[in-house]
Amino acid sequence: MSMKITFLGTGTSQGVPMIASNDPVCLSKDPKDNRLRSSVLVSWDNFTYVIDCGPDFRQQMLREKVQHIDGVLFTHEHADHTAGFDDLRPYSYQLGEVPIYLNERTLESLKIRFSYVFNEKNRYPGAPKVAANIIRQNSFFLNNLEVVPVEVMHGNLPVTCYRFQNIAYLTDVKTINDFEKDKLKGLKVLVVNALRIEEHPTHLNLQQALDLVEELAPERAYFTHISHKLGFHEAVQKNLPKNVFLAFDGLKIEI
Ligand SMILES: [Zn+2]
Ligand SMILES: [Zn+2]
Repeated sequence: MSMKITFLGTGTSQGVPMIASNDPVCLSKDPKDNRLRSSVLVSWDNFTYVIDCGPDFRQQMLREKVQHIDGVLFTHEHADHTAGFDDLRPYSYQLGEVPIYLNERTLESLKIRFSYVFNEKNRYPGAPKVAANIIRQNSFFLNNLEVVPVEVMHGNLPVTCYRFQNIAYLTDVKTINDFEKDKLKGLKVLVVNALRIEEHPTHLNLQQALDLVEELAPERAYFTHISHKLGFHEAVQKNLPKNVFLAFDGLKIEI
């Protein structure tokens, strides 16, 4: 089956431009230097899922005119991946409840921060309804598609990333153990975070992301979760290997 990935956002936690920044990249007029918080839409057949639901979720759904989703997969609990949770409301009204897929720790965090969503006894009528599916298996199905969760390390925090057929979406990665790396062989498309030029304690920098691409040898790679400290889109793209691309908001790829 052919699959489509739509980049809803490709920015790091604060987005690009960053509030109150006078950095030249933040002031750039190139639309590719405007990056909402990282998230993608994954679609195949008649199905559409979102990975992560950050603070820009509402804008992203409006921009891409997403009329319907079948569920949300979460990578981890950080605000740039979860703060748009309440904006699942319209989809929750359509579906009755929105299926969400996540690790146990991420669910526990959502229950604390969005307690009114999970309060069964005294529900506010407008609150979104979700059906939580904890990921414990080595693989699971979304409708007719097998999904392989891949656990990566975001500094000391385990983050759940996902492989769909020959596509993998990895974000907020710093390190991956060999067992998990084995799940990332033979990819057509690898999406992975490349934060900036300088090293960072919890994210791959540009060189480390390039090294990972070389090691995993996907046909093509797209970098995401980008900070203004990576530089201008166009200037960075020029120096990348032929099969490596900086993703940008609105980019669609079909495989
Ligand atoms: Zn993040
Ligand atoms: Zn994070």
